[in-house]
Amino acid sequence: MKIAIVGFGAAAIGFIEKVKHSDNEIHVFERSKDIYSSSISGIRADGKLFVSKEMGGDLDVSIELQKKLVDFWIEKTGNGDYETGSSFKNIDYYKTFYHKGFQPILSDFYHLGTDQLKEVLFNIYNEYSSLSNIHFHFKAPVNEIEIAGDKIKVEDYGLFDKAFVAVGRSGHKLIKVIIKKYPEIVLDSTKVDIGVRFELPNHIVEDLNREMYEFKVKHKSKTGYMVRTFCNNPSGYVVPENYGDFITVNGHSKIKQKSKNTNFAILTTVQLTEPFNDPIGYGSNIAKLSNMLGGNRVILQTYSHFKNSKRTKNLYRVEPTLDSKYFILGDINLAYPRRIIESIIDFVENLDHVIPGVANADNLVYAPEIKFYSNLLNNQTFDNLKFIGDCSGSTRSIIYATAHGYLMGEEILE
Ligand SMILES: Cc1cc2nc3c(=O)[nH]c(=O)nc-3n(C[C@H](O)[C@H](O)[C@H](O)COP(=O)(O)OP(=O)(O)OC[C@H]3O[C@@H](n4cnc5c(N)ncnc54)[C@H](O)[C@@H]3O)c2cc1C
Repeated sequence: MKIAIVGFGAAAIGFIEKVKHSDNEIHVFERSKDIYSSSISGIRADGKLFVSKEMGGDLDVSIELQKKLVDFWIEKTGNGDYETGSSFKNIDYYKTFYHKGFQPILSDFYHLGTDQLKEVLFNIYNEYSSLSNIHFHFKAPVNEIEIAGDKIKVEDYGLFDKAFVAVGRSGHKLIKVIIKKYPEIVLDSTKVDIGVRFELPNHIVEDLNREMYEFKVKHKSKTGYMVRTFCNNPSGYVVPENYGDFITVNGHSKIKQKSKNTNFAILTTVQLTEPFNDPIGYGSNIAKLSNMLGGNRVILQTYSHFKNSKRTKNLYRVEPTLDSKYFILGDINLAYPRRIIESIIDFVENLDHVIPGVANADNLVYAPEIKFYSNLLNNQTFDNLKFIGDCSGSTRSIIYATAHGYLMGEEILE
């Protein structure tokens, strides 16, 4: 069979890993200019591999397969270097959070670190490109895909027996084009996570960081919205994330270089009902409004000013890890809907009961931090056109995206 894979990220890697020794002819179309190019895949940043039934995606992926895929990624470091831990295995921590109204999320994690991921991706590419049935095409953006009889036409690159679209969330433009042509593939499109990146000194959360490194909790806020922590980075760094037409914040941490601060996202899940059908537009417009106020930079505010809706003009004890050229001191309240702001404040105030110091006046709040969900796509619509990984709307993490590709590869082999 002649197979096209569009995008070379975690999902594509899971798929290829499963089918690499079959007699299928595989063509990978990746828009980045080469394997060294920094834009290849979300797996370039941070590389925290989670093993959990409670987060990472809406697929049923067994713990055994998740662990097997973690071993695969670790092996590709070449040196087996990683940090590891478990969230909420310690029952005392679990109970403390639970009693204060939080839902602790159970997971094991393995942290490879941003600084190692380049090497990992390169090692994987080296192996695959040495196989005679796998052909890489870089600088090959795909802008159009269509069903052509019993084949799939991929741009002008030719006809294929099957095509696997694995473009992640950054490939939303291609997904939009496909949806316009085949609207029946959309199952759901109503959700977006809007929030802030919170930064505070390591010592406030050091026990928690030592105990579980990644603490993930959910909390039903007084507004009715579900609020959660996401992507905790002990001794980490806040970084800008460029979406092309707007800039958001994100966080990461490195294996070797450490900062004095911990950062994590606090996200409010906004799920609206009919006639709303454009969560990406909603989130993008909030991000653009923030950027407009910040002169195309992100807004940084102290927690007390965020809470009291006052513009921050000076910082006090906590030094931001985000380079000053990327932020402006301001007031996030001018850009965010009230219900989202109130949900975040309620979350922080409650968290302060479990971790005193979280609600300190001079802790830092950055915005916008927005996590988009892809539309949930129906993989049963077409036999020979499938969507794997984050672009399918079914996954949100490296391990779940890899597993999605791997399971799809298993289906092909059957
Ligand atoms: C900053 C950041 C940090 C993250 N940190 C973590 C983490 O620590 N742990 C974790 O589990 N998850 C993390 N994630 C999420 C994780 O990266 C994704 O869930 C995962 O990579 C999804 O895999 P994927 O294969 O679906 O997409 P990706 O890995 O994003 O790969 C998609 C590929 O498709 C290519 N592409 C896009 N459009 C086209 C097109 N039109 N034509 C050709 N090629 C195209 C892209 O260049 C890219 O290489 C992070 C994401 C980001 C953005």
